[in-house]
Amino acid sequence: MERIKMYIDGEWVSSSTGAYRELINPANGQVAAEAEEGTAADAKRAIAAARKAFEPGSQWRQLLPEERAELLNKAADLIEERAEELAIAESNSVGRVYKETRYDDPYAVAGTFRYCAGLVRELKGEAAGGNGDLITMTLREPLGVCAVIAPWNYSIGTMAGGMAPALAAGNTVVVKPSSISPAATAMVFQAMEDAGFPAGSINLILGPGQELGTVIAESEDVAKIVFTGSTQTGKDIIEKSGKSIKRCAMELGGKSPFIIFEDGDLDAAVDRLMFGIFLSQGQVCVAGSRLLVQESVYDRVCEMLKERVPKIRIGMPLDPASEFGPMVSEGQMKRVLDYIEIGKKEGAALLIGGNRIVEGEFAKGYFVEPTVFVNCKSDMRIVKEEIFGPVLTVQTFKDENEAIAIANDTRYGLAGAVFTSDMGRMLRVCNQINTGILWANTFMEYTPAVPVSPHGQSGMCLDGGIAGLEEYTVLKQINLKMNPMRSGWFEGLDDTQEV
Ligand code: NAD
Repeated sequence: MERIKMYIDGEWVSSSTGAYRELINPANGQVAAEAEEGTAADAKRAIAAARKAFEPGSQWRQLLPEERAELLNKAADLIEERAEELAIAESNSVGRVYKETRYDDPYAVAGTFRYCAGLVRELKGEAAGGNGDLITMTLREPLGVCAVIAPWNYSIGTMAGGMAPALAAGNTVVVKPSSISPAATAMVFQAMEDAGFPAGSINLILGPGQELGTVIAESEDVAKIVFTGSTQTGKDIIEKSGKSIKRCAMELGGKSPFIIFEDGDLDAAVDRLMFGIFLSQGQVCVAGSRLLVQESVYDRVCEMLKERVPKIRIGMPLDPASEFGPMVSEGQMKRVLDYIEIGKKEGAALLIGGNRIVEGEFAKGYFVEPTVFVNCKSDMRIVKEEIFGPVLTVQTFKDENEAIAIANDTRYGLAGAVFTSDMGRMLRVCNQINTGILWANTFMEYTPAVPVSPHGQSGMCLDGGIAGLEEYTVLKQINLKMNPMRSGWFEGLDDTQEV
């Protein structure tokens, strides 16, 4: 059986204790692969390697920005060449369908690598005169060791979102993927090794989040943590990082509102809504999990959902025709089924779905039906909490003000969407909703060239564009005097005399 190794200081290595973990294919409950189960000692070794590779004079530190960009571009080419094997590995470990893992993930990673490679010469400081013969200038320098802690959903895409700008800016990295999904991550590391990244500049550790994450959070040799995951884990990392003073970029959970007004294009809206909540079985941070629909079109939207949702092609992840696969794990399936029970007890009514799928080939996997609850209220747990599954809650509103109030009645602030044909309303709603991303008449389309930051408990970070790259640097201020002269401070002069 394949055993996925860690990559530390330019070597593929085993856990210092010899421990390993079995990885389960969520489509059939079978063991798909094994992965090394690293320990705190392994995490410390990886951080030390990254720290050493960051020392002045190391092979990595001597690279010119263009040479770092070349490495990222070469790795991007190799990742695209290996798209098929990456897709199969990702589908087998997390259950996302091939249609998605084959045609999205590898290109998303390669695209992020290339985008950051293209920006390496944009990192520059400023200079200011105007103070006699003093010139003050700033230089942008890399921070040091950046640790990237990634979740299982979009495992390599989220990893690339932290790793590519960190490397482009000249930092070294330690990556800790979710224990559920290290396979595709290791393949990306293989591509980066083949591209020629110097030993120590990129390190991969595998193992339990709590143990390895604590070492990372407490280490004085880690300058920045880029964490993508749940709000609860994010809070734990922030707390543990406090003593060592490090930068923390937190990309956390969401409960995004999806607002349909009566004058919106209902066909496009329902289509995008289904994409927004059922893609990846709803295991998407920006999932449009709260539908807010204007009362006058509520019946029509429900009819459209009842007609279209049951036609979603549920299937095995590697079947190219499948549109919807299993939940990532047995635990995640149970969590979603628990929330469905909670919703029923809270008084919401099931419009569609609500069950585990156990017929035929689905019996051994962790499949849950695409589910829609109506009669939902803002104080219900299914409306307030991130379920991270294929569960849509539906609420109605009378007018624009009520839609905005319901949309903002949440601790999260990741994303939101509005469908309307009224440009004024579109702008007013986008302006007043407290989320980092707003989509108008679409969903999940964006360009990395423009930065974004979440609101509320969805995190604290800035991604994308040059501003996003600058987050991986520190500004050094240098003050240059053209003509050296004494300060005159300790020469007993009174303040009327010139120095
Ligand atoms: P998680 O918080 O359970 O785990 C994320 C990572 O943290 C994993 O690598 C895990 O091993 C590690 N970890 C666990 N406990 C830790 C600890 N105490 N200290 C340090 N690291 C620890 O999240 P998950 O279940 O893997 O992912 C799903 C969550 O991620 C959802 O809440 C989703 O919204 C969020 N997410 C957010 C974004 C975003 O961009 N905002 C993107 C993707 C996923």
